[in-house]
Amino acid sequence: MFNLNDLLRPHIRSMQPYASARDEYEGNEGIFLDANENAYGSVTSEPYNRYPDPHQKELKKRISEIKGVPADQIFLGNGSDEPIDLIYRLFCNPGKDNAIIMPPTYGMYEVSGTLNEVALKKISLTPDFQIETKAVVQAIDKNTKIIWCCTPNNPTGNDVSSDSIKEIIESFSGIVVVDEAYIDFTEQKSFTGLLEKYPNLIVLQTFSKAWGLAGLRLGMAFASKEIIKLLNKIKAPYNINAVTQQLVLEGLKNISWKEETVRKVLDDKNDLTKKLTNLSSVKKVYPSNSNFILVKIDNARSVYNNLIEKKIIVRDRSGVKLCEDCLRISVGTPEENTKLVNAISNIKA
Ligand SMILES: *Cc1c(COP(=O)(O)O)cnc(C)c1O
Repeated sequence: MFNLNDLLRPHIRSMQPYASARDEYEGNEGIFLDANENAYGSVTSEPYNRYPDPHQKELKKRISEIKGVPADQIFLGNGSDEPIDLIYRLFCNPGKDNAIIMPPTYGMYEVSGTLNEVALKKISLTPDFQIETKAVVQAIDKNTKIIWCCTPNNPTGNDVSSDSIKEIIESFSGIVVVDEAYIDFTEQKSFTGLLEKYPNLIVLQTFSKAWGLAGLRLGMAFASKEIIKLLNKIKAPYNINAVTQQLVLEGLKNISWKEETVRKVLDDKNDLTKKLTNLSSVKKVYPSNSNFILVKIDNARSVYNNLIEKKIIVRDRSGVKLCEDCLRISVGTPEENTKLVNAISNIKA
């Protein structure tokens, strides 16, 4: 049975969180002499002398409307990388607890786990990049605290079966994280609709991909009120800077830009897939429900190096298990995609 209090690391249960100056007074009006800011303004043309809202209330309200998730079930992080780290720190005792990942998948689950001294049990995906549900459930032991699922998965690009993920959530009394960084590019339904049903579920999304805001660093975690409260308890007080809060709020007025761009990217991806499939060196373009494709190609490493010489940068995944001879290629503009295809077709075998 899932019991959040038992799962939580004991010292976090009892610790006092930092109370920031802006926690103690609500309101925007007043003479603010509480945070040692510069009352004269900023060195820049726009004023940034005041600390930002530590709870990002306005931004969460807007995200809540768009995502259909109550504001108190939303955590915002400095990219998804921040909640990934905080989730480890909430639940995993270093040197003792473990987490399950399913490679090939997003690299940060392992990097962040290793940094937090959390052992990783690796249960590879099947050759068609689906979850080995039975093997995952069998790998769970009394120190397993987190299982990381990613759909659509990176670097493979495909939807991972929702039924498999549900089976894992139902078979596990620890935390299951479903990383939906590419949710805008797929028809697959978001797991945010299952938060009421599954108290051990955390869903991650990001503004870095479909929204085109990778440079601002804003990630979202959706979960029960109780889990969100814990993430807030241990986060750095002002983790989302004022510029990011302001610019993302502005961007959220323009949902149609995002939707239109997603449609373009999906069309461009189909186009790129066709053109690559026609090249003799390309052995396979894997089905993708995201904004990138995994391509199996002769001499992947040397193709990668050759492209670099032409200042075309893709991601070499040929050293990754189940991705042998594969490059991961983001969908670019039609012009960039054409240059890529021409560059590959000009490489002599
Ligand atoms: C790109 C990506 C992210 C996003 O990370 P940010 O820190 O929000 O930029 C998260 N998960 C996966 C699987 C990704 O591919």
